[in-house]
Order: sequence, then C-alpha cells, then structure tokens
Amino acid sequence: MEKSVETFKESKHFRLHRVADGVFAAISVPGTGSVGNAAIIDLGDKTIVVDTFTTIQAAEDLQAAAISVTGNSASYVINTHWHSDHTSGNQVFTPNAPIISTTATRDIMAAFGVNRINEQLTNLESIFRSLDELEEKLQKEKDKKLQEEMKWGIASDREYMKILPNLLYTLPSITFDRGLSIHGSERSVQLFSFGGGHTQSDTFVYLPEEKIAVMGDLVLSKHHPVLNHANPKEWLHILERIESLDIEIIIPGHGEVCSMEQVYQVKGYIKDIMTLVAESMESDTNIDDISVPEAYQDWYFTTYFKTNLKKVYELLTAPERSIKVD
Ligand SMILES: [Zn+2]
Repeated sequence: MEKSVETFKESKHFRLHRVADGVFAAISVPGTGSVGNAAIIDLGDKTIVVDTFTTIQAAEDLQAAAISVTGNSASYVINTHWHSDHTSGNQVFTPNAPIISTTATRDIMAAFGVNRINEQLTNLESIFRSLDELEEKLQKEKDKKLQEEMKWGIASDREYMKILPNLLYTLPSITFDRGLSIHGSERSVQLFSFGGGHTQSDTFVYLPEEKIAVMGDLVLSKHHPVLNHANPKEWLHILERIESLDIEIIIPGHGEVCSMEQVYQVKGYIKDIMTLVAESMESDTNIDDISVPEAYQDWYFTTYFKTNLKKVYELLTAPERSIKVD
C-alpha cells in the first residue's frame, strides 16, 4: 500500500523526505530541537525509528510523523550512538517501544550520560551565562556563515535548556554487540556495529533490498565530521568496511540525504585532519594557525574544525588523555 508523506503536517524541527517505499528521512531544520537527523522505517507490521533528536518536542513530532506515514507508532527505536542529539528524545517512545543500542553505547549512557545530565541540572546558571556570552560573541562576529551557525547553535541549546528539567534520561533496554536483524511483514533491517569510530561504539541501519543505510554520525553530508570522542583510525576502517556493502542512498547523521560519495568525503576529511596535524608538528608550527581547507569551507559545523585538529594532536602527543569520554 502506498503511503504518502503529505498526510503528515509539517514539523518545525525537521523536514520529512520519502527516500524509498517505507523509508523516510527526518532531516533536521537548523536552530531547532532536532539538531541531528532521524529516520522512520515501515517494516509493514511494525515501525522502526532511528535516533530521537535533542528535545522532547522534536521527538514527539517524530512519533507523530511515524504514526502518520506508517499507520503505527514506533515499535522499536534504535540509537546509533550515545550523543544527546541522537538520544535525548528517547523518553517519548518508551515504554511502548524498546530502545536498542550496542552494549557499549548503553554502558556509556548509563555512566557518563546520566552524570552529564545531572551536572547540567546543577549548573543551570552557568550554562545560561555561557549562552549569553555566546550571544555577545555573535554580535561581534563578522563572518556571515559563522554568524548563522552560531545563531543555530544558540537557538538549539536554548530549546534543549527548556526541556532539561523534564528530561527523563532513558537508556536502551535491548543491546547487541555486532549485529541484529529486525524482520517485518514487508521489509527487514539489519543493525551493524563495526566498533567505535565517531564514538566509542557506532551502529548503522542497513536495508539490503533497498540499498539504503541510516548512518548516524559515521557519515555526515556537508558538515565537518565530529572527532571529539573519535578514534580516527578505527573510523577509517569502519568506512572501508561500509564501502564493501551495496549502498546507493545514505541518510546521514547531519545534512541532506546523500550517497556513497559522502563516505569517501568523510574518509578524505579524516585523513586530511591527520595530515594537517602531522605536518604542523613536523614544521613546529601551531595547529591553531591551520585554516579550513578550501574543500571544506562551505561545510557546516565549522567550529569542529579546530576541535578536530586538537583531538588528533592530543591522540598523537598524549594518547592516554584521549581515552577519557569527553
Ligand atoms: Zn550528531
């Protein structure tokens, strides 16, 4: 039965794209409560939601979209990794839909994730103060693209701060390590984890028949990949293994629906960051003086370029420091 996206009324948090029969990408609208992308997959007799955005409201819209385009509320929710823009909306879907992640992702959420929320709740004033400071910095910023990105960041953070007191940090209740399949009456999905690259443990969702993959933040489109919690070498290995799969369409963790082209781009980006840091160390120059290469100047998440360089520098000079979670 053909189901139409038109039956879903717009959400301010995301745009819903029908990628294939039964497969929908919820692409984040910048500056709202989504921040990351999500996906809805209609298995026929059950519905899968992949990732749950940053705020309760955005996740509620995602559940409404799932009901609208599949006729069912989510039966299972998958967290591709532990970052809050992919997990903070979990509470909207439970207890009806169990949350699924890797064992390692759940472990990090249970320890570090819970602590982080508690820390935020005890430091509300300083968080609001730093947002005000960012607001002042924005007034002085001359670069139009940076201005826009800062505005989005501040607006999304303020959305998150609004829901923080109501946040029930919700852990996955089904875990796996390497792979898991979910079969429905009309289609099936395969969950894969090739280890940790972007975070300590990353999952992606693969539909072999449709040749579609929902990649979480292993693959971003026109956004700087985020290396804050990354193992760059493992990330490259994971992307190499992904290359051996038959994939035509990718729903990335951030940015528009894309293709294998973005897998190659992310690989190139990680290699470039590693090379730039190595060259800077060899010539004894400061990594802070490295500017964004031409190829990445129109990519978003600009502020991560500097933190990515710093992360790789730390890995090369003090690897023991980089093991910590943040
Ligand atoms: Zn993300």
